[in-house]
Amino acid sequence: MSNILISVKNLTKQYQAEQAGGIRNVSFDIKKGDVVAIIGESGSGKSTLLKSIYGLLKTDEGEIYFEDKRVKGPDEQLIPGHKQMKMVTQDFSLNIYAKVYDNIASQLSNTDLKTKAEKTLAIMEHLRILPLQNKKIIELSGGEQQRVAIAKAMVSDTQVLLLDEPFSQVDALLKNQLRADIKRIAAETGVTVILVSHDPADGLFLADQLLILRNGELLQTGKPAEIYQQPKHIYTAQILGNAVVLARDEAEKIGLKAQKDFVVFYPEWAEIINNWSSRRYEVKDVYYKGFYEELLLERNGVNVRALQLNRAEHQKNDHVQLNISRYLEF
Ligand code: ADP
Ligand code: MG
Repeated sequence: MSNILISVKNLTKQYQAEQAGGIRNVSFDIKKGDVVAIIGESGSGKSTLLKSIYGLLKTDEGEIYFEDKRVKGPDEQLIPGHKQMKMVTQDFSLNIYAKVYDNIASQLSNTDLKTKAEKTLAIMEHLRILPLQNKKIIELSGGEQQRVAIAKAMVSDTQVLLLDEPFSQVDALLKNQLRADIKRIAAETGVTVILVSHDPADGLFLADQLLILRNGELLQTGKPAEIYQQPKHIYTAQILGNAVVLARDEAEKIGLKAQKDFVVFYPEWAEIINNWSSRRYEVKDVYYKGFYEELLLERNGVNVRALQLNRAEHQKNDHVQLNISRYLEF
């Protein structure tokens, strides 16, 4: 038995003929129970892809399969959307004057009230919102509301949770917690999660599978660490790790031999070494990044960036030596 839950095959959706926008010829598989993160800039087609998977959009070409059955489009059924999937959008769609408990329980039928109560309480426990059950939605913080929205989406035996920019409304501290929550909930309940984000940090942290979208095209998919280490496109290295990109002649000016047109490396692949004899790079600027700093360095008119973990060890106008241990060519 295959553990592929969703299969997207050659999917194309253009909003207007002969115009950019939408997605083009996208294919990939999703394994049951995985957390899948779709990363791309605003307008790259993330929401279009998510809505297509859910069956909300009439696509131009290609199909989506859920457990080997084709997902129907909005023109093929009375109520658009797939029964085993639920989508949580940025507006949460909660009844803000109703209680947390009632918002969630409203998804279940009244034919078996005992089961209804049990399921509602169980999902609230998973989302750690049990203590909030009698509060109204308007009394909750943004992060709490988001948990309620996820609980509401998951309570009715949902197999696939679709999250569109789930972290965009919350502050940095809460973001970390919600990311960890989503990973934990997926592991505990076996639900498959597909989330889209413009912030690569969201995907790298939690995903089993990462997809990089650019201008409606799927550039690469795979495990986050694999994509990060072996990006197939310069763009991917830039969006995931703010990579340094040098043309071949620039690379040669700092002593890197290249066969192809471009040399690409992440700042952490450039190690600053304290070698007094050959300090060839000048520190042009220092960017504070919290527990580390990024140095902007210059040699022979070429700018590169490197990480400095010991804060303030080197400062503007200092001279340092670099060991670029690894670089990619494109
Ligand atoms: P993302 O979610 O990555 O920001 P979208 O999937 O919303 O991107 O949009 C992808 C592209 O399709 C954008 O260029 C957008 O302008 C266009 N687009 C999205 N929805 C519509 C629509 N309903 N009509 C026309 N163009 C649209
Ligand atoms: Mg979007």
